[in-house]
Amino acid sequence: MRVTALAGGIGGARFLRGVLAALPDADVTVIGNTGDDITLHGLRICPDLDTVMYTLGGGISAERGWGREDESFVVAEELAAYGVGPAWFGLGDRDLATHLVRTEMLDAGYPLSDVMRALCERWQPGVRLLPMTDDRVETHVVIADEDGQRAVHFQEWWLRLRAAVPAQAIVPLRAETAKPAPGVLDALGEADVVLLPPSNPVVSIGTILAVPGIRDAVRETAAPVVGVSPIIGGAAVRGMADACLTAIGVETSAQAVGVHYGGRGRAAATPAQAGAGPAEAPAGTAEGLAAAPAGLLDGWLVDTVDAGAVVPGATVLARPLLMTDLAATVAIVRSALEVAGV
Ligand code: GDP
Ligand code: CA
Repeated sequence: MRVTALAGGIGGARFLRGVLAALPDADVTVIGNTGDDITLHGLRICPDLDTVMYTLGGGISAERGWGREDESFVVAEELAAYGVGPAWFGLGDRDLATHLVRTEMLDAGYPLSDVMRALCERWQPGVRLLPMTDDRVETHVVIADEDGQRAVHFQEWWLRLRAAVPAQAIVPLRAETAKPAPGVLDALGEADVVLLPPSNPVVSIGTILAVPGIRDAVRETAAPVVGVSPIIGGAAVRGMADACLTAIGVETSAQAVGVHYGGRGRAAATPAQAGAGPAEAPAGTAEGLAAAPAGLLDGWLVDTVDAGAVVPGATVLARPLLMTDLAATVAIVRSALEVAGV
């Protein structure tokens, strides 16, 4: 079976571990978010791609969920001794080697998709890990604080400000001119099932969908498309996804996120849903990511506490959605495949 999944960092990676355990023989392609990428000390850093690579390759810090197991931060301490920041971005010594290799390859002219393939030769994540694009897209967040209104890199808003300063807009800069990386559209078109893991709907999945062509490829694929809610009982399980949803005018609830993705209208409609088809596709624009139903989903998994959620045009299934361990995650994946009918 050919499985194609969109993915951010921790939530996506944990879910993908369940996909590989549930479907050991599947051919899995992951389309990873690169909007969180940042250049620090001259090094190109791709947090979400690396989180997927390390998690599936057995190198992730189990405790932190990002960065390397058995990590030290000597270089970061030395930089701090020089007064060189930013202190809010955790750059471990082992992790630095990945960024050095990546930056060297990028500087030599290799596209990011080639770089990731090379890095994955070491990690053997068991999936084909594609960046959403080889072009440089960086998510910025418009905030207003004592320094006035300004845009900061997503990482500064997320890590330094802990998303506590309200976002006036979340903008995937240069997404509108980015091209999907080689293999991305084919992976969506040729899949037997397309999965949207419980990744951040705005700055992970939303950013991937903002690359022209990707949203349409999800809408138009012949494969069933099933999403898993990252929101349980009105809260993000971990992290500050609620601040991102608020910024685009979407309520922090499993139903609202499902409606935001939108049903495709191909599933057998329940009486209450009859007649509801997919809404017109909008897109992330230069003004930022926006709330607008996109007609992506055939199925939407919500937690049992959110049973009763309705997404017009999609089949909603309520199952426990906490990825507490691998067995629980495998059960979530099986539920997603069940609602997909594959
Ligand atoms: P990031 O890039 O590291 O922030 O990771 P993702 O975007 O892939 O996923 C982050 C999201 O995962 C968070 O917003 C949470 O809502 C969601 N999440 C984390 N743990 C769980 C879990 O156990 N179950 C579900 N359903 N969602 C989770
Ligand atoms: Ca991320």
